[in-house]
Amino acid sequence: MTARVLVVDDILANVKLLEARLQAEYFEVLTASSGQAALDICARERVDVVLLDVMMPGMDGFEACRRIKSSPATSHVPVIMVTALDQPSDKVQGLEAGADDFLTKPVDDIALITRVKNLARLKVLNDEMTMRASTSQQMGMGPQAMAKALNGESGRILLVDDHPRSAARIVEALAKTHDAFIERDIQAALMKVAQYNFDLLIVSLSLQGADGLRLCSQVRSLDRTRHLPIIILVEPGDEARLLRGLDMGVNDYLVRPIDRNEMLARCKTQIRRKRHGDFLRTRLEESVEHSVTDALTGLHNRRYMEEHLRTLLEGAQTSGRPLSLLVADIDFFKKVNDTYGHDGGDAVLKEFAARLKRNTRGIDLACRMGGEEFVVIMPDTELERAQQVAERLRSMIAAEPFKVNSTTQAAVTASVGVATLESPDETPETIFKRADTALYSAKRDGRNRVVTLAYAA
Ligand code: GH3
Ligand code: MG
Ligand code: MG
Repeated sequence: MTARVLVVDDILANVKLLEARLQAEYFEVLTASSGQAALDICARERVDVVLLDVMMPGMDGFEACRRIKSSPATSHVPVIMVTALDQPSDKVQGLEAGADDFLTKPVDDIALITRVKNLARLKVLNDEMTMRASTSQQMGMGPQAMAKALNGESGRILLVDDHPRSAARIVEALAKTHDAFIERDIQAALMKVAQYNFDLLIVSLSLQGADGLRLCSQVRSLDRTRHLPIIILVEPGDEARLLRGLDMGVNDYLVRPIDRNEMLARCKTQIRRKRHGDFLRTRLEESVEHSVTDALTGLHNRRYMEEHLRTLLEGAQTSGRPLSLLVADIDFFKKVNDTYGHDGGDAVLKEFAARLKRNTRGIDLACRMGGEEFVVIMPDTELERAQQVAERLRSMIAAEPFKVNSTTQAAVTASVGVATLESPDETPETIFKRADTALYSAKRDGRNRVVTLAYAA
């Protein structure tokens, strides 16, 4: 990921130092020497993370942060405050100004890269969400779902810590904005995060009889918990285990003794990140689902059918194996609608699709082309066998009346056209056209019948 980081500091040597470290990690770096210059850059170009010095002449870092966060054009840009001393009061002021995280000078390398990576990732997800927001609204997604996905409040957090006093202190601090739970045992913790929907896992690396990193690695490798953010709690100086944790995919860390504002800021970032990710993933699955299936019947839709007919046809042509196709159309369907209403018609379409599915093998592709027209593509199927399938379908439809509502049934029949792959230069269009022409012969010849049209080149 190549994120653009804006480094803001009135002392050139500080700017140069941070610039060099960030560039070594392949971040793109922009620089500014005052709060005003930083605001100008943010207004003018894309910035993914701002590293903002607190103490600057003129506009100080808090004020610059407040202005970034209050302008709609830049409010979503993450800001990391860089403070000279480890001053708790600076953090309180920073949070009030809207800062997303903190670094203390002299800036530690691991801390710098971890903070920047986390917030740059959040920004990427955030941009992606904003981009899709309009599409989501078109698809009937309310702004509430979006707003929930954007905020980092009311998270469900599981803390794994077996030191009672430490655990109680942490949970007390979290409980103001989140639902926090304590678990002492790492096996039980794994079960819980796999079973329930947590937004964040916090793991102490100072457990008595267990290795917290083992839990982290298990959480990362389990399908159900792969996307669960993890923050580890490390003892000062335990850099080796901290690095191992980050290597295995732990998202962030806190060094004991834990600063509660720092903890709240980091939890918020991770919870937002989790929600953004979940939101985008489900939207993606839903939109993929929308684009390939027919909502009424659950069968594949026309677009999917056309795509796959092409692939299956090419496969059949290179392997020399047979491929057949049928097109089925309900007879006098307009009358069903006219007699029983549109809902009655829909009930017939659903039942028709269900019978169609029952009549096809797993490798056959059953699709609704639109209206009351259906297609089944049958790989590895000779013409004769396809005609049998078509005839069985026709008789399955005609044999038993369809339920149109809770009290009424209606007799339904369908006409079917069949075609098979016959020529090496056949295309999806030619084979499909043949099945369609056969279908119209069936209609013309009196309906409720199967017709096959041979290749006429
Ligand atoms: P034929 O035997 O020649 O196929 O006659 P038909 O009445 O079945 O064919 P036609 O194409 O004239 O009418 C199809 C009707 O299907 C018209 C349309 O209103 C209706 N229809 C299309 N899609 C749907 C749907 O999703 N639900 C319902 N209930 N009706 C639909
Ligand atoms: Mg019809
Ligand atoms: Mg029709």
